[in-house]
Amino acid sequence: MKLALIAHDGKKNEMVALAAEFKAFLQGCQLMATGTTGGRLVAELGLSVERLLSGPNGGDLQIGARLAVGEVDAVIFLRDPMTPQPHEPDINALVRACDVHNVPCATNTAGARLMLERWAQLR
Ligand code: PGA
Repeated sequence: MKLALIAHDGKKNEMVALAAEFKAFLQGCQLMATGTTGGRLVAELGLSVERLLSGPNGGDLQIGARLAVGEVDAVIFLRDPMTPQPHEPDINALVRACDVHNVPCATNTAGARLMLERWAQLR
């Protein structure tokens, strides 16, 4: 399972808590993340994560490009709906790429938990 993890600043604590909850499952996945999100997952949970560029510097686009060529199986993208983001076009491009390629994309912890619970069961 190749899983991409992204969280906006207002959602990073939620991402770390979610990843801690599913750490055993995530350790068996190939993880990639935008820069700051990945840094927190590495530093706080010791997960092995490939860190791409920070979102505002193109990290979302890097994930979208990989996804478009079949290199991402699922995306957990904890967006902050209450805070305007300078890279909104990149965010929309990534979510659109998920829809174009029919790749599961959870944009909040409730959806992410459903996906992770299901995959953990299947493993
Ligand atoms: P970050 O990027 O993990 O580098 O903060 C996420 C984003 O803002 O899209």
